[in-house]
Amino acid sequence: MSELLNVEELFASNVFTVAKMRERLPKKVFQEVIRVMEHGGELSMATADVVAKAMKDWAVENGATHYTHWFQPLTGITAEKHDSFITSPMPNGKVLMSFSGKELIKGEPDASSFPSGGLRQTCGARGYTAWDITSPAFLKESACGVILCIPTAFCSYTGEALDQKTPLLRSMDAVNKQALRILKLFGKTPAKVTASVGPEQEYFLIDKDKFNQRLDLKLTGRTLFGAPAPKGQELDDQYFGVIKDKVSHFMRELNKDLWEYGIPAKTQHNEVAPSQHEIAPIYGTTNVATDQNQLLMETLKKVAERNGFACLLHEKPFAGVNGSGKHNNWSISTSDGENLIDPGKEPEKNLQFQVFLAAILESVDNHAALLRLSASSAGNDHRLGANEAPPAIISAYLGDQLADVVDQIIANGEATSSLKGKVYKSGCSVIPEFKMDATDRNRTSPFAFTGNKFEFRMVGSTQCIAQPMMTLNTIVADTLCNFADVLEKADDFEAAAKKLVADKLREHQRIIFNGNGYSEEWVKEAERRGLPNIKCMVDAVDYLATPENIEMFEKHGVMSKRELVARGVVMYDNYAKQINIEAKTMIEMSTKQIIPAVMKYEGTLAASVKDLKELGISADTQMEILSTIDTKLAELKKATAELEDIVAKAAEKEEDPKAWAKYYHDVVFAFFDTVRKPADELEKIVDAKAWPFPTYEELLFEQ
Ligand code: ADP
Ligand code: MG
Repeated sequence: MSELLNVEELFASNVFTVAKMRERLPKKVFQEVIRVMEHGGELSMATADVVAKAMKDWAVENGATHYTHWFQPLTGITAEKHDSFITSPMPNGKVLMSFSGKELIKGEPDASSFPSGGLRQTCGARGYTAWDITSPAFLKESACGVILCIPTAFCSYTGEALDQKTPLLRSMDAVNKQALRILKLFGKTPAKVTASVGPEQEYFLIDKDKFNQRLDLKLTGRTLFGAPAPKGQELDDQYFGVIKDKVSHFMRELNKDLWEYGIPAKTQHNEVAPSQHEIAPIYGTTNVATDQNQLLMETLKKVAERNGFACLLHEKPFAGVNGSGKHNNWSISTSDGENLIDPGKEPEKNLQFQVFLAAILESVDNHAALLRLSASSAGNDHRLGANEAPPAIISAYLGDQLADVVDQIIANGEATSSLKGKVYKSGCSVIPEFKMDATDRNRTSPFAFTGNKFEFRMVGSTQCIAQPMMTLNTIVADTLCNFADVLEKADDFEAAAKKLVADKLREHQRIIFNGNGYSEEWVKEAERRGLPNIKCMVDAVDYLATPENIEMFEKHGVMSKRELVARGVVMYDNYAKQINIEAKTMIEMSTKQIIPAVMKYEGTLAASVKDLKELGISADTQMEILSTIDTKLAELKKATAELEDIVAKAAEKEEDPKAWAKYYHDVVFAFFDTVRKPADELEKIVDAKAWPFPTYEELLFEQ
């Protein structure tokens, strides 16, 4: 048996939790911190000084030497710059460890070195990081020691958000404000409404040494070459299968690290594709869960490394088997503990729930393109619409119970009954009966109701979930705002609310789809319904800064026009750069690895042909193989040279971010298959020992 873990003791041991603050801070200071945490507002510098000292003392007691403002620039990953706690040496040569309130609250990284979409120039570089008091500070241990990480927002000197967190926090304020207006009409006045998310994270684990031999995996996160293995996922033997010992050991260490970070790691299992797995923590506020998901992705990689694995977070590391996503389970609930998306036992009578449901459906219908955009990335383009992940078309699944309630409301203006969960009967006398859910699950829907939350299933596995969550929070806030504007004026609130629900459900019923989202019929049906089907990321970016969206984001104080336009530029830029790296990696692998290896093998074959002929043997078979190989080699050489030309021409478009990205999508990316095809065909006929890097078999089945 391995060493016992005392989970209750180690949970959040690396976090400066509210409980630790209560222990270490004077009562008045603690109360001020809690007030700001819950209601916002200014924290006095005197208080900040006391908090900073307590935080530093705790960190130093736990071995910390440095602190960092930990933030999420638009790179998709986190950023940190370490400062030690030491003061300048005193006359006696000694130093002290110190950390002031000012250092806690504000940092000044150079903003011009992060993607800003033009918001910051190299000459106007100032940027600030600002302490996010709602996301607890934590200790991170690495080879450089223990670092106190302080989650922060990152903005430019001119006040524009340069990060993922700022708009997300603003969107949480927006949804809080508008949901409270609606609740007030129902006679409820909770202190706060919070949007929460539980992100289920998929990933691949492959052998580290094999990973290191694949330039494509190292530089781009996905395989750019590789013939399919004889076995894929067709036997369904990986999903929920018994977890191999080596992977179990990894999972155990992962859980331990996550629990120490206060990340409530809950569920783990093998996923559909070979070597694919999933981890899901218990949900938290969209802000804290986003920070935790970033930390989780980092921890996955680190723990993998320690265990002889490489963790692949890319959305599509391998062609031909499933890729990875991140299902975002989203809900909004009050500080009194009421989940506003919980239909309760009698959804037909629950007008408040119906109002929130109608608002969510209207939001999803009106802003399908924005939601689609929020889950867009170069990597996710491989998944969406590819029959392993939701289609690129947004629709909402409600399940039998709610679909029936909605149908009644649409037909009669109200619902009078609802389907109840049946009792499970196994037919075996020894298996106890239980009451089943009133609703089935739908794995093919991008936005599926799952009992008391919506599961946004489109998001990519590498993605920072801030943008999808910010989008969802904002569009729902906007609809709730419109609803409140109408309902606050009504003389008879209940009648007006019922009418509004019925009108809105009728208006937006096209967004509801309970069938198979992977089917070809759905694509046609969706087109008939007029639902957008945005095929790739580059096309989706157009929808970010439309006049209507600018108006909406500005109205709720979530993002300004400049910020939106800048984010679009960052997305185009990112896309072009990623595809450029993929193209260059392809060229390098083809030129320096595949072509030389095949030529060498050809040499061996040619020598054998010569030898056989000298002995008077025809060598027809060898000649045939040699000639096939040579034809394919010529094809690969030609395609590689063409790809080089195509990439070189991209520079002409660089001035215009959209045209640049579009060129990379329509021309560069579109050409990848032409290079890959002859290479993969060669892989299938060349001696396995001669192939220059590990194949799909080795990567996927020799974990
Ligand atoms: P699945 O069966 O799809 O894995 P789970 O019930 O295990 O679904 O939940 C998946 C995720 O949803 C977890 O992160 C869980 O904490 C989260 N979750 C559960 N309830 C809610 C809720 N009310 N709001 C947001 N997330 C939730
Ligand atoms: Mg799920």
